[in-house]
Amino acid sequence: MSAVSSAFQSNEPVNASEYDVIVIGSGIGGLVTATQLASKGAKVLVLERYLIPGGSAGYFEREGYRFDVGASMIFGFGTNGTTNLLTRALKAVNMSLETIPDSVQIHYHLPNGLELKVHRDYEKFLQELTSHFPHEQQGIRRFYDECWKVFNCLNAMELLSLEEPRYLMRVFFQHPFACLGLVKYLPQNAGDIARRYISDPQLLKFIDMECYCWSVVPADRTPMINAGMVFSDRHYGGINYPKGGVGQIAGKLVEGLVKAGSEIQYGARVTQIILEDGTAVGVKLANGKQYRAKRIVSNATRWDTFEKLLPSEAMPASEKRWQKRYQKSPSFLSLHLGVNSEVLPSGTDCHHILLEDWEKMEDEEGTIFVSIPTLLDPDLAPPEHHIIHTFTPSWMEQWQGLSPKEYQHKKEEAAERIIKRLEKIFPGLTAGLDYQEVGTPRTHRRFLGRDDGTYGPIPRGKLAGLLGMPFNRTAIPGLYCVGDSTFPGQGLNAVAFSGFACGHRIAVDLGL
Ligand SMILES: Cc1cc2nc3c(=O)[nH]c(=O)nc-3n(C[C@H](O)[C@H](O)[C@H](O)COP(=O)(O)OP(=O)(O)OC[C@H]3O[C@@H](n4cnc5c(N)ncnc54)[C@H](O)[C@@H]3O)c2cc1C
Repeated sequence: MSAVSSAFQSNEPVNASEYDVIVIGSGIGGLVTATQLASKGAKVLVLERYLIPGGSAGYFEREGYRFDVGASMIFGFGTNGTTNLLTRALKAVNMSLETIPDSVQIHYHLPNGLELKVHRDYEKFLQELTSHFPHEQQGIRRFYDECWKVFNCLNAMELLSLEEPRYLMRVFFQHPFACLGLVKYLPQNAGDIARRYISDPQLLKFIDMECYCWSVVPADRTPMINAGMVFSDRHYGGINYPKGGVGQIAGKLVEGLVKAGSEIQYGARVTQIILEDGTAVGVKLANGKQYRAKRIVSNATRWDTFEKLLPSEAMPASEKRWQKRYQKSPSFLSLHLGVNSEVLPSGTDCHHILLEDWEKMEDEEGTIFVSIPTLLDPDLAPPEHHIIHTFTPSWMEQWQGLSPKEYQHKKEEAAERIIKRLEKIFPGLTAGLDYQEVGTPRTHRRFLGRDDGTYGPIPRGKLAGLLGMPFNRTAIPGLYCVGDSTFPGQGLNAVAFSGFACGHRIAVDLGL
């Protein structure tokens, strides 16, 4: 028996039914794992602590508005290639979603009057960027073309578990050049490649922002594999918004999961992963119920999984090493606004990024992110109204130790600051406000079950690309992790990749 505290041992009778796989959490990573396995005939139980599925890709409704909790710039809904992982995940359980194409990924409002749009059309984007930096015409093309090389390698092969040797062999024999290409880029960061071709400091800052806006670290710490995916797929599969809101993705995956004969329970907070002889064999819920399965998957963050669901003495050495290399990114201060439609000038794009001072890009309340999904799907708001979802990095420490009154006051002050800055792109915003709800890192922690409300892991320093990100197996037999604290990281399409990989690895382990 391993030295594990008795609280985590199974000595109570457990429910008679035994599952093949239990998935803790119904984020997109957890649901893709579950549906992949269910589609292969496994009996899966998903346990979700909240009332609806989706986690950071969930939604909530207030006064006729349907707000996305987090994600709203959605990759992975393309129709071609292999990187369209959301389309594929839904298809695996005979589901699909109507999506609305977005013609501009981001409209940037950056320091020194740098105003530019990332168009869906690649050449149009390069042209617009080059018009701001004509002396870097060749460097711009070379950098973004190199991103395409990464993408084309990924998009040629079926994306499954890199921990499965037979799959790796098969893929290698089918696509030897693509594989060698990827091996070359795996330890590299986007910043090193950008500097190879580009020397203008302002343009390098722009590349930093291009990375920061989804990796929350500058280009030097952003793996080239992820940059290659994002900077190319936006022009290939494109950005597509699911009709009815982002919550539809999780909703449809759950529908497919249940139709495939598996189960999901809501309000089911897992408090312990049960170990027997050091192997994960089941889970215990807050209400005392226990369930057993042949394999356990955690879609909670690694900090929540290894520091809260398992006893501290069970923390594997590999996790301790990982925590030395990666830290929690900040959380967000989020404003969910309902506004009169006159606030938006005609021709407004769906996604915006605002920054006034390059030195503040990574600071608390530095970069402001904006999404207006009602420009694509007007049904998410009452007639003549729009949703403006805006968020900016914020750390948990800022929001702790406050009385309810102080907390409320601080939220209002912060909202005022952000709205004032947004007036620059949406003059009249304050006057046009119809509804306002403010979320803080505490909200993210409470409703998403994420330690400190973090967006996910970020490298503490410069690492060798994606090499340090763990795959799905853990050092604890029977326990797997999936979601944004596993390879390849944050974003819905990325966690879907992790879900495909996790489902594949477990299917092989169970002989499905
Ligand atoms: C503000 C914001 C904006 C974003 N914008 C975008 C974007 O535009 N595009 C994009 O692609 N990505 C975006 N992202 C990132 C993306 O949403 C996440 O990377 C992704 O949704 C994470 O998925 P996941 O499967 O790892 O887990 P999560 O979404 O964190 O889901 C985990 C689930 O597990 C449940 N859970 C946790 N612990 C337990 C427990 N003990 N018992 C039971 N259930 C538990 C949680 O309730 C949750 O439902 C954004 C994120 C945020 C916060």
